[in-house]
Amino acid sequence: MTVRVRFAPSPTGMFHVGGARSALQNWIYAKQQGGVFVLRIEDTDAARNKPEWTEGILSALDWIGISRGSYEGPYFQSANAGEHRAAAARLHDSGRAYYCDCTREDVQARTGSQYQGYDGYHRDRGLGPGPGHALRFRTPDEGVTVVVDLIRGEPTFENKLIEDFVIARGDGSPVFLLANVVDDMTMGITHVIRAEEHLPNTPKQQLLWEALGVKPPIWAHVPVVVNEKRQKLSKRRDKVALEAYRDEGYLAGAMRNYLMLLGWAPSGDREIVPWSVIEDEFRLDEVNLSSAFFDEKKLRAFNGEYIRALPVAEFIDACQPWLTGSGTIAPPPWQPEEFDADAFAAVAALAQTRITVLSEIVPNVDFLFLASPLIDEAAWAKTMKDGSAELLDAAVAAFETLESWDAESLKSTLEAVGAERGLKLGKTQAPVRVAVTGRTVGLPLFESLEVLGRERTLTRMRAARLRLV
Ligand code: GLU
Repeated sequence: MTVRVRFAPSPTGMFHVGGARSALQNWIYAKQQGGVFVLRIEDTDAARNKPEWTEGILSALDWIGISRGSYEGPYFQSANAGEHRAAAARLHDSGRAYYCDCTREDVQARTGSQYQGYDGYHRDRGLGPGPGHALRFRTPDEGVTVVVDLIRGEPTFENKLIEDFVIARGDGSPVFLLANVVDDMTMGITHVIRAEEHLPNTPKQQLLWEALGVKPPIWAHVPVVVNEKRQKLSKRRDKVALEAYRDEGYLAGAMRNYLMLLGWAPSGDREIVPWSVIEDEFRLDEVNLSSAFFDEKKLRAFNGEYIRALPVAEFIDACQPWLTGSGTIAPPPWQPEEFDADAFAAVAALAQTRITVLSEIVPNVDFLFLASPLIDEAAWAKTMKDGSAELLDAAVAAFETLESWDAESLKSTLEAVGAERGLKLGKTQAPVRVAVTGRTVGLPLFESLEVLGRERTLTRMRAARLRLV
């Protein structure tokens, strides 16, 4: 039997990191089993779906390595509507489903309570189809439904506690529970790997499989992803969109590695491992049952390590979208014609060790491309003290006559200027750095000045000097 798994997102918003994790787990499982990964877009909630969300899912999957063309699909649930209706009709015709026109108030008037379920009133009343008549599944009165779950063992549900649930609405449209089952069935899905939040649906869905006469799939419900307060990650409260991480400059390799560590770890005490190790070693049945903490700080540190591990040429390439502005990434503060690829290449290795997300490249190198630096006024006020004007004058004079404009000569020259005033190099550097880059922190100063060149360095130092008059 060929293993067939599917990832079945609903395109109702940005692509959630939890969804990305399920997609990767499905992807790896299929690969390990020599199986097939199917992508199905569950787009039947017309009011909440938007085509751009679907496009966002496809491109985000592509970004983390589930590339277009390397899986089956995407299929669209809406295209299968005929099958959903046919299955509902089959269930009705075989006596496994019946029509019901009860409102919640009707049920509560009968049960006299706040009971939220359904009391089975129409089970044997033979109501026919009609506007407002929902179709309900007749759940067995006895016995248990045993779900085979690769992570959870065999969760067992008592059938008598499962209400006769709705499978098609009063307007005849099948609900998610049924559509999802029918699609899995028609697509020959053998393993359903999905988030734990769907576990309450599973016994109902398994009953539908059985009633439709098909052997149910094997399930695997992976634990939810939570924030530092152990709350389920939410779109409204937490940063959950994979696209947001991508645009901030997380590397796909770091992101997908980190996502796979949510609730699982490779052998040994390792976290940063090649993707091939994760593909070999990942085991669904080793996934923890407890919810997984999505630790953004850890992810960021992780990303920094991935950035530092890149060959410089790849790092330079990886930075391009932030240097030139591209797609949903904000354009940099300089004009395209101000960008100088050689100057960037000259400082790239220095920047590479200092940033943890690629978007941080911009404030680190903007001084190289802007006609005049963006001055951080707070940094200016903190740095420019009594004596800074004279210090700048002396530094300008020394730099003007410097024989060779290189980092080493710049350093020894400025060191000497400071020493004459009894200042250590750190104190001497600070006003020069603020004058030239606008900031108190950044790339190593003397390498920066070397790349910026004599003329621009001196112009900026003189301009700062004038401000201090
Ligand atoms: N469309 C459902 C969701 O996004 C998928 C449910 C499933 O994987 O079975 O939650």
